[in-house]
Amino acid sequence: MGVSVATDRCIGAALCAMTAPEVFTQDDDGVGQLLPGGSERAGDPSVKEAARACPVQAIILHG
Ligand code: SF4
Repeated sequence: MGVSVATDRCIGAALCAMTAPEVFTQDDDGVGQLLPGGSERAGDPSVKEAARACPVQAIILHG
């Protein structure tokens, strides 16, 4: 199980960082980013919730 952010699709809605702040943050331009080690928490329920909450499906769950 892994997770990534499709930064080319991200519109900076911040829902990922609000929903799973232990996994996602935003860069200076508001683009969603994984925090260090964030991918290891891909199975957390909050990550699934963040993927659902992202308005442009930019959070991709793998595996
Ligand atoms: S919720 Fe989606 S659009 Fe918003 S910052 Fe996160 S990845 Fe980007």
